[in-house]
Amino acid sequence: IEPKLSGDFATLMEWADGVRRMKVRANAETPLDAETARKFGAEGIGLCRTEHMFFDPERIGAVRHMIMAETEEGRRDALSRLLPFQRKDFLELFRIMAGLPVTIRLLDPPLHEFLPHKESEIEEVAESLGADVALMKRRVADLSEANPMLGHRGCRLGVTYPEIYEMQVRAIFEAAVQTGKETGAAPVPEIMIPLVMTKRELEITRAQVDKVAQEVFAESGYHIVYQVGTMIELPRAALTADTIAESADFFSFGTNDLTQTVFGLSRDDAGKFLPFYVEKGILPKDPFVSIDIEGVGALVRIAAEKGRKAKPDLKLGICGEHGGDPASIHFCGSVGLDYVSCSPYRVPVARLAAAQAALATGGGDRTA
Ligand code: PEP
Ligand code: MG
Repeated sequence: IEPKLSGDFATLMEWADGVRRMKVRANAETPLDAETARKFGAEGIGLCRTEHMFFDPERIGAVRHMIMAETEEGRRDALSRLLPFQRKDFLELFRIMAGLPVTIRLLDPPLHEFLPHKESEIEEVAESLGADVALMKRRVADLSEANPMLGHRGCRLGVTYPEIYEMQVRAIFEAAVQTGKETGAAPVPEIMIPLVMTKRELEITRAQVDKVAQEVFAESGYHIVYQVGTMIELPRAALTADTIAESADFFSFGTNDLTQTVFGLSRDDAGKFLPFYVEKGILPKDPFVSIDIEGVGALVRIAAEKGRKAKPDLKLGICGEHGGDPASIHFCGSVGLDYVSCSPYRVPVARLAAAQAALATGGGDRTA
């Protein structure tokens, strides 16, 4: 990996790096993303989304089996088949990131995305579970939701089916141990819990993480330092951030979902009438691209202040799309975030914007 850009561009980036206060990480989930991120100067992974890993054609059968099984035993059977895949996913990322922080977000798909829909898929799952096709169809109907983005997703999955998060956490720690044993430099995984709305959800999932971590350390005779934090992507989480901070080592603002829930605007259908609203001046700009300072931004500021009041060393970052938007990065600097995380290709822009943000706020020291 060539971790530096070349020529005048590289010089400009070095100047920016000398000035900026916020770190710049990348959203990356594949080895190619991670390599690209490093090439553009990312200082870690700020968001590794794990859902796409489950859609791999080699795994989707086991994933459907996991979702459709009606017993914990059935789910565990499917999860044991997924564990080696997940371990390999994280091992590759840890090796490429070579000791830089890697934030892994536990599973956060709307559950329905994993359901079998075609007749042939339902028959396949029925056969692998030894179940009746009619029963499987009923289960698909039971698990389907009218509003999946506000439904059974995020940590709600980990709370209702703890064995799913247990598998992922085991894969993370087994991969971290293996990297540590091979290289002598163990990664410091940051395990991130999605869609938290109450402190209790975080307490429950955090306890699961700690339990599995201790099991892996006992089995391997190797200890890994790690952190557990939460996405702040629901208004309630932002408003109760002081309480939530008591159970979190870090917050990462998920401004995609936060924008969706603050505006009551579907992020998946935003293209339908939003451009008209922007054209007519009803909204000054697309809030999914640039942070809406008065609404979403106010919640980010409240959560940052409350979180830090409760826990002064709380690490704060952002991993929504806004983390790669220069105007939003300025805002992030003004509320004291420690890092922004964006698409690998936006990392250079973010490095520059972070430097401009530091200059605008009279900063310039590089201590974060
Ligand atoms: C977010 O909601 O801002 C976020 C980063 O998570 P996702 O886009 O995966 O929901
Ligand atoms: Mg989200």
